[in-house]
Amino acid sequence: MKIGQFVKAHIREIFSHCDTGDHNEIDFLLDPAYSKRTFGVNFPFCAAVEDIEKTESKRYWTDVYLVRGTRVRVTSQWFESSRPLFFQYLKSKNIEPKSKLENYNPTLTSSDSGNKVFTARSNSRYRGNAIGNAQNLFVRNILSRLGNESFSEKDWENTKDYFSRRCAYCNADADLLIEHAIPINKEKLGEHRLGNLVPSCKPCNSKKRGLDFREFLGDDLEAIQKIEAYMDSRNYVPLEDSEQMRMILDMAHKEVASLAARYIRIVNELFPRSSDPDSDDDQCDTTSI
Ligand SMILES: [Zn+2]
Repeated sequence: MKIGQFVKAHIREIFSHCDTGDHNEIDFLLDPAYSKRTFGVNFPFCAAVEDIEKTESKRYWTDVYLVRGTRVRVTSQWFESSRPLFFQYLKSKNIEPKSKLENYNPTLTSSDSGNKVFTARSNSRYRGNAIGNAQNLFVRNILSRLGNESFSEKDWENTKDYFSRRCAYCNADADLLIEHAIPINKEKLGEHRLGNLVPSCKPCNSKKRGLDFREFLGDDLEAIQKIEAYMDSRNYVPLEDSEQMRMILDMAHKEVASLAARYIRIVNELFPRSSDPDSDDDQCDTTSI
């Protein structure tokens, strides 16, 4: 395993060590001099997200961790020469090095459509859509957290009032569900923000599925305009034209596929299903969202 991957595989445990116990290890890890001494790296092990954004530094991985109330990213500037020091550090914190992972190298091939196909062994514990689900969940997770907006039950009540307590799509006077007018996926780029939440009756909710509200409503311009006006009133500007965001999510989607494949492979190797007579599907396509 490359040194960068090796470090990455232990970040969670290092931060969970920082999060527990009566010490200020995180302050040390934020300190460049300590990191130089401890790991032989030229950047602090991690830095606060605000500081990285100020300098626009590219020397940190993009994953954000919350450690003792500080949002941090970990430096990506690792060289082979740091490996023994990093090992030593793990030992000193009672973290078991994941050296076993070195033997695993998942097989990933691209299908024509660009979706990842994972070749699983027939006695796999994980089958079906495990990877596609992980990818979709991750993309949802990113989209759901963008903007960091919070809203309350009261806000939702006001939203229902805005639509006269009727379905925003068919105007039915029925039980209302929370519906994302623009779906939260990497194609449509909807977000979990108040301005993207509209009340919907159950039938509309289940018919609409992955459609954008405009696709779903077709030529019902009145309903479309009402939802657009509602979005404006809640300052919601959809991301749909953001090529950059699309690219980022596409990257995340692909990266999760290889990450999920690696861990599924490990689990399948370590915990094979004993026997399963009808487990003859050794390929599983992932769905794209
Ligand atoms: Zn409806």
